[in-house]
Amino acid sequence: MTSLLYLDNSYLKEMEATIIEIAREPEGPQRWLLVLDKTIFYPRGGGQATDQGFLFADHWKGKVSQVLQKEGKILHYVEGDQPPSVGTLVKGVLDWDRRYLNMRLHSAGHVVDFALYLLGYSPFPLMPFKGEHEKKPMIYYQGIIEKDFQEELEKKANELVAQDLSFSFRLADHQELEREAIYLQPGLPKNKPLRLLTLQGVGSVADGGTQVHSTSEVGRISILPIEQKDGMTLIRYRIS
Ligand SMILES: [Zn+2]
Repeated sequence: MTSLLYLDNSYLKEMEATIIEIAREPEGPQRWLLVLDKTIFYPRGGGQATDQGFLFADHWKGKVSQVLQKEGKILHYVEGDQPPSVGTLVKGVLDWDRRYLNMRLHSAGHVVDFALYLLGYSPFPLMPFKGEHEKKPMIYYQGIIEKDFQEELEKKANELVAQDLSFSFRLADHQELEREAIYLQPGLPKNKPLRLLTLQGVGSVADGGTQVHSTSEVGRISILPIEQKDGMTLIRYRIS
């Protein structure tokens, strides 16, 4: 019921939206839960951190401290005085520096993942399991390789950055994803729209987060020493 503007355009920094639901958060004073008819605020998920920012109306300003998706609703956790009533038009402004860094970290994770694919290490023997693209970004893979591939992976990932390849995406249902993606990660959410994310000339994966336009925006990628134990491989990366 909320139109997800960030899925079509990860570069929207401002919007106008209508409040369609307001609740008071039981914990903590001056915290409100707002549902809007559309939003540019990305809810925490898929390893990507929540967006933050502000909502404005006449004589009212609320700080969006967190956004979560619960039971199909996108809940904006807003700090401030009592918000205006349902039906009011508000202006939303993202903390763009935070979002842009999150986007770069998220896209960087996909560059690392595509690099592993090009090296022939993924989706087999390393099957993507989970990604965290926040302050200490890392990707977990099921499976191990009996060798140290840290340098090789860093080199391949930075080749993709240097080539300035474009990311593109379109909405896709499960059947299309199964047909066209390199792999389908376990636990793929079925309750939110998914997209087929394509890296130019490389391949496609299922993805629902925000992305930069092309790999050069990610910046240089560093791969930290790779950990392999208990049948799992942990790849930590940084961007600069
Ligand atoms: Zn992703």
